[in-house]
Amino acid sequence: MLTKVIEQSKIDHFTKWFDRADKIVIVSHVSPDGDAIGSSLGLWHFFSSQGKTANVIVPNAFPDFLKWMPGSKDVLLYDRYKDFANKLIAEADVICCLDFNAIHRIDAMGDAVLASPARKILIDHHLHPEDFCRIVISHPEISSTSELVFRLICRMGYFSDISREGAECIYTGMMTDTGGFTYNSNNREIYFIISELLSKGIDKDAIYRKVFNTYSESRLRLMGYVLSQMKVYPDYHAALISLTKAEQSRFDYIRGDSEGFVNIPLSIKGVIFSCFLREDTEKPMIKISLRSVGTFPCNRLAAEFFGGGGHLNASGGEFYGTMEEARKVFEQALEKYRPLLLGKG
Ligand code: 5GP
Ligand code: MN
Repeated sequence: MLTKVIEQSKIDHFTKWFDRADKIVIVSHVSPDGDAIGSSLGLWHFFSSQGKTANVIVPNAFPDFLKWMPGSKDVLLYDRYKDFANKLIAEADVICCLDFNAIHRIDAMGDAVLASPARKILIDHHLHPEDFCRIVISHPEISSTSELVFRLICRMGYFSDISREGAECIYTGMMTDTGGFTYNSNNREIYFIISELLSKGIDKDAIYRKVFNTYSESRLRLMGYVLSQMKVYPDYHAALISLTKAEQSRFDYIRGDSEGFVNIPLSIKGVIFSCFLREDTEKPMIKISLRSVGTFPCNRLAAEFFGGGGHLNASGGEFYGTMEEARKVFEQALEKYRPLLLGKG
């Protein structure tokens, strides 16, 4: 049995909306990851099974390793089909906002979502949700939005209507947001949910391979290169990797090729904090990805030095300046956080 994580009043409230709704739009964050697409499609399969007209809209493209997901071909990309997407958003009865806590996380779609008369519900696990939805289901203690989607559907009484396809999407989001159940994954109820998803006929081992083992040769060579350039800071229990635009073009980089790189330095004994600096291909900025193990708060460091945020162990931000400048800022941050990095905080 699962703990009742979501308040009953919110389940009842959403059930009322759901019963009356005909057109439902699901939106998720920019550069969608496995949990963004997994939770959105998990909910989409469920809505579709109940005869609702549902559409998933995300701000921009998502990585190839998520394109096997059932329903992914029907995900609408806002940057390509803006007019059609705006119409769906404006005419929706209900808009479900998944896996983001701040309206700027859906980029250019934000204005259309805010302006829509639709009833809005937030389902998310990031800290400090902004106030733009009438129903707010926000649970930072839950490791993925996909898990919240599973809990919501079950509490509404529709477990039996979850299809194998829907279960595959939910499992994918749970798996990717926990690094294949290697972090944020000590809640035993996660494994009860996995057991329930397996009862729907999912092949979890095949899903793992489809998501994590489908890289191109050039991506693997890029990884080798990035790691060969890595800088380790043993006196700070930290490591830094980076990727400039020039390096990206040398390795035929396509969006998503560096997904997961930031986690690799954490496999060095003694390293508890990892930073990845990547020159963005679209905006004139350096994207910062931070990961930690244990109690080191990379979200605090992201907020203080890179105008970002996120979770305790996985956060990010942006830096406007050169790679050299970004490295300097990172080294200043290391100095400031040295006591915490050495466990003397
Ligand atoms: P990633 O390193 O995978 O891009 O991001 C990890 C997590 O950090 C995301 O799930 C999100 O919570 C947070 N994050 C990444 N970039 C930003 C950013 O620019 N601003 C904020 N507030 N959070 C971010
Ligand atoms: Mn998530």
